[in-house]
Amino acid sequence: MISTDGILGGLWAEREGYVDTTGTVHAYAGAARKRGAEVIEHNRVLELNQTAKGWEVVTEKGTINCEHVVNAGGLWAKQVGRMAGIELPVSPLNHH
Ligand SMILES: Cc1cc2nc3c(=O)[nH]c(=O)nc-3n(C[C@H](O)[C@H](O)[C@H](O)COP(=O)(O)OP(=O)(O)OC[C@H]3O[C@@H](n4cnc5c(N)ncnc54)[C@H](O)[C@@H]3O)c2cc1C
Repeated sequence: MISTDGILGGLWAEREGYVDTTGTVHAYAGAARKRGAEVIEHNRVLELNQTAKGWEVVTEKGTINCEHVVNAGGLWAKQVGRMAGIELPVSPLNHH
């Protein structure tokens, strides 16, 4: 599935890792709130429009203006990238 050309090393984790995924997300959100972030749930991003000062993020609950946008769209990162005119070379594959 990948070309090994140019790969210098790798990591083998025999027993992988286990986390409480919901707890992890809430811990990150709590830490971000403590540093002044606002967390808005259940709010789909519909459009990303570049402006002179940064970005206009059009969401289902209104428009947010910001300097930078982090694309953390996971399986949907490609679609989110397309909103900014970027074609990301990532595609989710069905495995098990
Ligand atoms: C069935 C399954 C089992 C897995 N098991 C494991 C495992 O055992 N161990 C492991 O390490 N990994 C596992 N993975 C992989 C792991 O879940 C992902 O690598 C990880 O969740 C990616 O995290 P992320 O934050 O990048 O993206 P995600 O967790 O995919 O989060 C992306 C978020 O973006 C949101 N989003 C997308 N589009 C928009 C939009 N337009 N507006 C607003 N929000 C949007 C989505 O709703 C979602 O909440 C598994 C994945 C699947 C599907």
